[in-house]
Amino acid sequence: MAAMTSSFSIMRYTASTTTRAVRVLGTAKPSASIVNFRRSLCRISATNNEEATAKAAAANADSGAPTIFDKIIAKEIPSTIVYEDEKVLAFRDVNPQAPVHVLVIPKLRDGLTQLGKAEVRHEQILGQLLYAARLVAEKEGVLDGFRVVINSGPDACQSVYHLHLHVLGGRQMKWPPG
Ligand code: AMP
Repeated sequence: MAAMTSSFSIMRYTASTTTRAVRVLGTAKPSASIVNFRRSLCRISATNNEEATAKAAAANADSGAPTIFDKIIAKEIPSTIVYEDEKVLAFRDVNPQAPVHVLVIPKLRDGLTQLGKAEVRHEQILGQLLYAARLVAEKEGVLDGFRVVINSGPDACQSVYHLHLHVLGGRQMKWPPG
């Protein structure tokens, strides 16, 4: 925690130093290297937020409390549904990481807070989710290339503890992922 706090302070310091440096330069356009440096600071800061959010979410993972996805299933909060059947719901991610970014979830969580908690009795629904991901890719016109991601647990930055597959497509994917 101390290490995290100090890295945040360093980031704050370097960010404000950069801002001051840019101010000293007056209205002159910041150089490409300053712009790139500030961009990388933003990326580091976003990554740290993501990790902190994931750790906080993991603390309540097995509490049995409803998640935001339960509210989406119950249609208590809006979502853009792409595919639905008896067992599976697929809807657009509110914070898309690609032109196509759809989440595929089981309607019944049944202990599947994360893939790491899967048991033999979940085999059928796991297969159904994967097949639904393929149907979504077809519907979205990305069958020629798409990626399916499952973040399981805090080290993978899982933030919602109701198993879900991310179906991503519509742009060139890179490897390795971040
Ligand atoms: P993960 O970080 O793998 O647990 O993914 C959770 C995903 O749920 C993130 O990509 C969020 O953007 C997405 N998300 C959270 N709330 C909503 C919502 N209300 N509607 C659609 N997507 C959501």
